[in-house]
Amino acid sequence: MLPAADSALAVVHEHILSCTACPLHIRRTQAVPGTGPASARIMVVGEGPGETEDRLGKPFVGAAGNVLTRLLESIGLSREDTFITNVVKCRPPGNRDPEPSEVEACSEFLDAQVEIVRPDVILILGRHALARLLPGSPGITQVHGRKVIRGERLYVPLYHPAAALYNGSLMRTLEEDMLKVRGYLDAAEAERRHAAAEAAVDETPEVDPRHQLSLFD
Ligand code: URA
Repeated sequence: MLPAADSALAVVHEHILSCTACPLHIRRTQAVPGTGPASARIMVVGEGPGETEDRLGKPFVGAAGNVLTRLLESIGLSREDTFITNVVKCRPPGNRDPEPSEVEACSEFLDAQVEIVRPDVILILGRHALARLLPGSPGITQVHGRKVIRGERLYVPLYHPAAALYNGSLMRTLEEDMLKVRGYLDAAEAERRHAAAEAAVDETPEVDPRHQLSLFD
């Protein structure tokens, strides 16, 4: 039997696959819900499926996906342990920008995925994901590589790998920002260990007073 979170994710993905809530369903080959385990600690959110993703039913499996895989691996993360999805789950024709109404129609799915996976960190790829996940934020050129804490979650906006594909200096910035992500993850892990160690000290039983008395028997 699947763990509860995996089953919940499977139900959401069934809904995505049969969704007709916006016009993007008309020209899609298939919807692209996302990949990765419900237990993932890292979530990646891109813009929307491209031509290859639409054909294969998986996110980030084209040229931009190769860049993403390499960037994740460069800081010791694997695709398999990462939950990868998009703001809109169906390909906008000709890879045009998604319309606000399409983003809105898809928003309950992304919200549900975030709610079920409960990742520690969300990597936000590009301006559409930034506007969707951190509305009101300054633009991607101002905030890329910075950590943004909202509630219990850490967000890191990054340039979209597709934008970096043909722009060497953007690619270098993206690579440097990924090193910052590694730093944020390490700091969060160190904090978690510290908190766990403190909690363990708090729970250490005090010496039983009867024991102490027995010294004087
Ligand atoms: N670009 C995206 O934003 N998402 C994909 O899945 C592929 C390319």
